[in-house]
Amino acid sequence: MDLKNKFLEMYGGELRDIHEYFAPGRVNLIGEHIDYNGGKVFPCALDLGTWAAVSLRDDGQVAFASLNLPLQVQVSLSDMGYQEKDGWANYAKGVIQEFQARGCRLKGMNILVYGTIPNGSGLSSSASLEVLTAVALNDLFQCNFSMVEMVQMCQHAENTYVGVNCGIMDQFAVGMGREAQAILLDCNTLDYQYAPLRLGDARLVIGNTKKRRGLADSKYNERRSECETALQQLQRELSISSLCELTPAEFEVHQALIQDETCRRRARHAVYENQRVLEAVQALEAGNIQRFGQLMNESHDSLRDLYEVTGPELDTMVEEARAVQGTLGSRMTGAGFGGCTVSIVRADAVDAFIEQVGQRYEQRTGLKPEFYVAQVGKGAGPVYPPAAYQVEELIAY
Ligand code: ADP
Ligand code: MG
Repeated sequence: MDLKNKFLEMYGGELRDIHEYFAPGRVNLIGEHIDYNGGKVFPCALDLGTWAAVSLRDDGQVAFASLNLPLQVQVSLSDMGYQEKDGWANYAKGVIQEFQARGCRLKGMNILVYGTIPNGSGLSSSASLEVLTAVALNDLFQCNFSMVEMVQMCQHAENTYVGVNCGIMDQFAVGMGREAQAILLDCNTLDYQYAPLRLGDARLVIGNTKKRRGLADSKYNERRSECETALQQLQRELSISSLCELTPAEFEVHQALIQDETCRRRARHAVYENQRVLEAVQALEAGNIQRFGQLMNESHDSLRDLYEVTGPELDTMVEEARAVQGTLGSRMTGAGFGGCTVSIVRADAVDAFIEQVGQRYEQRTGLKPEFYVAQVGKGAGPVYPPAAYQVEELIAY
């Protein structure tokens, strides 16, 4: 895919005036539904992502086009408010508005984006598009925001402008990702540390169930309030400010304080999932991928049985994944009820995995899944011209 040539076909202009940017998608390896319970998440950036080619224009207009979606939009810089008719471009417009609100003086632009992240599948194509826009603006107009500031601005745009109540994990992983590293992140304090993802001869295989996450939003709010109820009841005797401050042993001592059996199960998931995250990072550090895989399995089972956010499609795909010789671990990733699974699979078993899980999943659900063998990619930033292109330019000038 030569994005720059597509850009010239669409907008005209000169090759040398085009600036190119990239932002990855992300997958959460373990630590699900605990970001809002004071727990830690463990995502990494992927080599799936979104690219943008951008050139400046002098008339204060911003044109948006995507090679993935037909809708093209053109709006004035002074008119960046949310408009339903502007569809996908709102994700970029929201970020432009964030920059303007902080006093950045922008110019008009032609923007063409292209993405390889399946939309709406829990790999954060929306955060990718937002952070992509932010790194482009920061570079083109020398706004000097740090990556963490941009990550916060993008989350703010998605919360208040697009109206999706997401936490900060997505934008953080997209912006701060590093090749071959995952990020242990506390979403409340933004304390983070990188952990090398040494998978040895294993690969990260992402399976897209193709089931839309229809229920995810309403159930998300329900789970949050169930956890709040559990916390309030524990707080009658304990001075804690979030569920994940408890160790599993402490939880066992005090769990009877939670009156409602459903709320107790939700809290149990949060406490044990947080423990699994910490153990998973230790297992990786010790090079124990086998244990990392087991913890992924336990995470899924807890999300299925205690937290009840999986659903038949995710459960079927995980079950079939685990039945393949060479799978070290498999779980749902993201909010649940659809979207993707993530599995760790020995490299020599990846082809068999894709064939076998693909066939059996389709037989059992009637949905045709997709698989991506992902590399752990780097975070968002400018794309520097490849060597051949630089040589050509040197000769031309
Ligand atoms: P997810 O973030 O899980 O992929 P969302 O529903 O949050 O799902 O975001 C998907 C939306 O992001 C798409 O419907 C579209 O509006 C926008 N989007 C993502 N990638 C692109 C792209 N390459 N081109 C245009 N719009 C995109
Ligand atoms: Mg999203």
